[in-house]
Amino acid sequence: MKKYDYIVIGGGSGGIGSANRAAMHGAKVLLIEGNEFGGTCVNVGCVPKKVMWQASDLLESMKRDANGYGISPQGITVDFKKLVDNREEYIRVLHGAYSRGLAGNGVETIKGYAQFVDNQTVTVNGEQFQGTHILIATGGRPCRLEVPGGEYAQNSDQFFELTTLPKNPIVIGGGYIAAEIAGVMHGLGSDVSWAYRHDRPLRNFDEMLSNHLVELYQQDGIQTYAQYVPASIEKADETYTVHFENGESLTGDYVFFAGGRTPNVDNIGLEKTDVDLSPEGVVVVDKFQNTTAPGIYAVGDVIGKIDLTPVAIAAGRRLAERLFNGQSELFLDYDLVPTVVFTHPPIATIGLSEQEAIEKYGKEQVKIYTSEFTPMYFALDDYRQKCKMKLVCLGKEEKIIGLHGIGRGVDEMLQGFAVAIKMGATKADFDNTVAIHPTGSEEFVTMR
Ligand code: FAD
Ligand code: NDP
Repeated sequence: MKKYDYIVIGGGSGGIGSANRAAMHGAKVLLIEGNEFGGTCVNVGCVPKKVMWQASDLLESMKRDANGYGISPQGITVDFKKLVDNREEYIRVLHGAYSRGLAGNGVETIKGYAQFVDNQTVTVNGEQFQGTHILIATGGRPCRLEVPGGEYAQNSDQFFELTTLPKNPIVIGGGYIAAEIAGVMHGLGSDVSWAYRHDRPLRNFDEMLSNHLVELYQQDGIQTYAQYVPASIEKADETYTVHFENGESLTGDYVFFAGGRTPNVDNIGLEKTDVDLSPEGVVVVDKFQNTTAPGIYAVGDVIGKIDLTPVAIAAGRRLAERLFNGQSELFLDYDLVPTVVFTHPPIATIGLSEQEAIEKYGKEQVKIYTSEFTPMYFALDDYRQKCKMKLVCLGKEEKIIGLHGIGRGVDEMLQGFAVAIKMGATKADFDNTVAIHPTGSEEFVTMR
């Protein structure tokens, strides 16, 4: 039986990041991937989503905003099939880059689905391999809509198979994916209805963000439906009717559902190991990514902590540093992780929302600064789209414990501010930083 220092199951964000880093430190590494390299992010997540977001943003800007600058929006159309073909070609290029990167670092790879035989052994394509250390980085898949007719609802994997744009889609769900796909389809020209089951979408985020998103989506023509809990879906010819528990129904030519992700823990033989699952079905790990089985680790969506690509990569790389580069105390701190939702306009957020801060520290300890302005980009025409920002500060020294923004360009503003916040920046530090003019980000350092 072939033996390795490190066997990585899953060639997505976390697995590739960890395998490469381990091999760079001289470990003998085997990476097993059942599908294309790159996992969810590259194939059916961040990458195709961002391409679609960019296309939709570009089209929206040309149709809606160009006129103010004297640029004629006449005759602009979108060739959806060409967009999809070009996107998939780009993804094929990425597959090649990942393969070359792995080979360049000396990572051995096998295509196939792995299963555990015991705590040290896995089997793939009928062959067994032994690892001193084994990483579970098998990611997750879309949850199903468990209502009669739920099978008619298409998930995000299926959305990326579309070669024609739906005319009047119904989007169900109030999380990242529903918010993003509703915006993408609208920007490309669909007449979108968006239904979510609570009073606001993105309800774990600061209220300012979700309330303003709904306001802007409505202003731009997306029909939003709060407190719409799906009850069933019916199909007649090419038309779908979604019935909701409140007695209302919506009809369209496409139903899209994004209701969270299920970790890929079944069919990998975990019952043959000492790896424990939580009641929610995710792999239980400690802060060092150790599972309950010695020598087996897990990172990424399969641990259900923060389902983001850079989180999976960072956890995977730190684990490899700990196991193969003597950094015995290294682990990923899951606090203050910045994140962007690619809505139209985007949302950028890090740290505690105003509500969370007040709940945690009490109202008297929390000081809020806000800013609301129309970016200069919108100055030359009638269309106005407000940008809203908020700083959540703690105690006398006004340590910044939350920063939130929704508006044009906030997606590219957050990363640098996240560094400052992670370093413990206070409001005074922000005030001491000279603004860059004319930009949107200057608002974050000039709030009063
Ligand atoms: P994955 O990337 O899912 O990789 C797991 C891999 O394991 C897969 O390739 C799978 O085929 C393989 N596998 C599973 N079982 C086995 C087995 N038994 N044997 C061998 N291989 C196996 N995050 C962001 O940060 N920014 C974004 O903009 C963003 N957009 C997203 C948009 C969508 C529509 C979705 C669905 C997700 C998005 N995410 C985004 C989340 C991000 O894609 C995930 O958090 C990330 O891919 C998780 O990485 P992972 O390594 O844990 O799992
Ligand atoms: P989320 O966890 O973001 O949101 C799930 C949503 O589904 C919630 O709003 C929930 O409603 C709703 N929901 C669950 N079940 C039902 C149901 N039966 N009927 C109606 N609504 C339901 O999951 P997503 O699937 O949107 O995204 C998965 C993860 O992928 C995200 O959490 C994120 O970590 C990652 N991602 C990151 C992106 C980025 O970084 N830009 C982009 C896309 C995904 P409620 O709120 O009412 O409970």
